[in-house]
Amino acid sequence: MLQFGVLTFNTDIQYLKGVGPILARKFQTLGLRRVADLLYYFPFRYEDRTKFQSALDIPQYLHKHILLCGQVITVKLSQPRPHFYIVRAELRDSTGFFRAVWFNQKFMAKTLRPGLEILISGKVVFNDYEKQFQIEAEDYEIITPAFKPAILPVYNTTAGLSQKKLRQTAAFVLAQIPKLADPLPPALRQRHNLIDLDAAIREMHFPLRRESWPLAKQRLVFDEFFYVELGMALRYARHRAGLAGIRFQPRGKLLDAYYQTLPYRLTGAQRRVIQEILQDMAGGQPMNRLAQGDVGSGKTEVAVAALLCAVQSGYQAALMAPTEVLAEQHFAKIEKRLRALGVRVISLLGRHTQTEKKELCRRLAAQECDIVIGTQAVIQEKVIFKKLGFVIIDEQHRFGVVQRQLLKEKSAENVDLLVMTATPIPRTLALTVYGDLDRSIIDEMPPGRAPVRTYRARPAERGKILELVRRECQQGFQAYIVYPLVAESEKIDLKAAVESFAQLRRIFSEFELGLLHGRLKAAEKAAVMQKFRDREIQILVATTVIEVGVDVPNAAVMVIENADRFGLAQLHQLRGRVGRGARAASCFLVAEAKSPESKTRLQAMVDTTDGFKLAEVDLKLRGPGDFVGVAQSGFPDFILADLLKDEPILQTARTAAFALVQADPALALPEHQSLRAELRRRSRGLIDYILLN
Ligand code: ADP
Ligand code: MG
Repeated sequence: MLQFGVLTFNTDIQYLKGVGPILARKFQTLGLRRVADLLYYFPFRYEDRTKFQSALDIPQYLHKHILLCGQVITVKLSQPRPHFYIVRAELRDSTGFFRAVWFNQKFMAKTLRPGLEILISGKVVFNDYEKQFQIEAEDYEIITPAFKPAILPVYNTTAGLSQKKLRQTAAFVLAQIPKLADPLPPALRQRHNLIDLDAAIREMHFPLRRESWPLAKQRLVFDEFFYVELGMALRYARHRAGLAGIRFQPRGKLLDAYYQTLPYRLTGAQRRVIQEILQDMAGGQPMNRLAQGDVGSGKTEVAVAALLCAVQSGYQAALMAPTEVLAEQHFAKIEKRLRALGVRVISLLGRHTQTEKKELCRRLAAQECDIVIGTQAVIQEKVIFKKLGFVIIDEQHRFGVVQRQLLKEKSAENVDLLVMTATPIPRTLALTVYGDLDRSIIDEMPPGRAPVRTYRARPAERGKILELVRRECQQGFQAYIVYPLVAESEKIDLKAAVESFAQLRRIFSEFELGLLHGRLKAAEKAAVMQKFRDREIQILVATTVIEVGVDVPNAAVMVIENADRFGLAQLHQLRGRVGRGARAASCFLVAEAKSPESKTRLQAMVDTTDGFKLAEVDLKLRGPGDFVGVAQSGFPDFILADLLKDEPILQTARTAAFALVQADPALALPEHQSLRAELRRRSRGLIDYILLN
């Protein structure tokens, strides 16, 4: 029990005064087990009891919260029906009389004695029956000589755990716990104007003044970012420290030949990013770089150039895509291109038989081929390379630390890594998710593209839209019609898509239609895609499998059914499939937009084609968790920090963390030991253990 020991960060909440095992369970439903959890369980708002209203103000507060201080005059208990009690108290303050009511809190009839002074907060309602205002009490405090009105925290709580109890427990902990040591070095704190951790935590719970808690919050937001960035900085330093990378040759026959055979001029952005990558590859440290570019910005060319750099230096390279369809697509495009240059490209895919796979692996192991394209299975299966030097991961979301480790084991040397993503991640999010990678941005689209026009449409307008589709197809263009398919309702969704396909076939009897969905075998999918590419199919009906990377420039229309069921990031990816040619393309978002949120989302699609703008809208609407894959990748929980509003603090925290790691790359200095401990506590095992050992 507590009285026998000192209260610490690790003390179990159930041993706190006035808690016990039953209440402890309630605390647990809020995720609070230990004192540390409680210290970091911050109120979502405050009630300023240093300023209260008076009885005169009541009418202005109708349907709103009010805080009054008054003396109890009378108290009455009534029971209008079985199991329903009302306690009515008449009170007065210096400006007049008022009434407060408590429902189903019979004990209040005894607690409130005439003459007592109480501080009461609650909602003002008008009692139609008695024609008077009354306060539906939510909280109260009896004023005693010891009681000092203060700014009180209001926490999220749960049934069976009152606001009062939670507040008392927090106050008890703060009163008992010794001053918290601050892991941040004093010089760092001073430089960035951060208040002391102990003061910040106390202020967050029980602010002394209204003006003081923003400083407390700022300090704690800084911490949330700082430890994430500290992990990033350590990882960044580790990639670079002492590891000898391969020095690839940026100039050579293959790249020269490639530039000669390009059917178009590279955009400025493509050239710049290729330059950045080649420079890294030539350098003596392993590359860890992220190349970000919106859909259609021409990432494939960048990938090809980097692959050729590896091959002309005598190494093998791998390209991994998130899906089979996409891997197949990359293979089709890249293989054709590189065959002419004498580069041997193979694919390693689900459609290959065991015998084929065996033969492919044999060729890899003997370096009878230069480049392999596949899904992540390429590194997971027992594939052996003779001389792997370079890997591209084309993905929508983060490739885990574990997979990267697997990758490293595929080669005797420290391979160079290029991550490519089309997910437009707002800058702030990128700093936290990809903060340990160097970053290149392809921020320019190839010329000669008419922007996609986007329209919102109701299901009733479908007939008109399908006529537009028909007209485009009659002129030789192609169309996508997309249906949502989500895991939770996969069967129903699939059925809907298949039924619609049958219907569409009747409607468009003069055209060839193809159906593409996740249940098809890899070979079937590949066949449908090939027909669409070869224009044997005019209309491709698909569930979300076309989401990533399908490139058919002749497709000029996209119809997205039940568009409100897609996230913004997905819609943007989908729409990126059209408008890849010179034909002005259109995209129809068909939905019975129900919620204001989905309306905002669809309207954002109409208003802009800029992926980064859309990503910010998405971040505002739904928070960071919605970014595909971000949630699974150990994305840190920001409790106080707001990725949009707090960007300046994020920048500061990042600079501070990187500077600190530069000075002490292994966090070995004695004054950094507490930082190390705090980093470990916060990362809950997500940080690679190697970083801290
Ligand atoms: P991403 O992978 O970034 O979505 P792709 O690499 O598939 O984009 O390129 C999209 C389309 O643009 C392809 O049809 C490609 O041939 C074309 N393209 C790429 N770079 C250029 C360029 N510099 N000029 C003209 N067209 C280009
Ligand atoms: Mg290198």
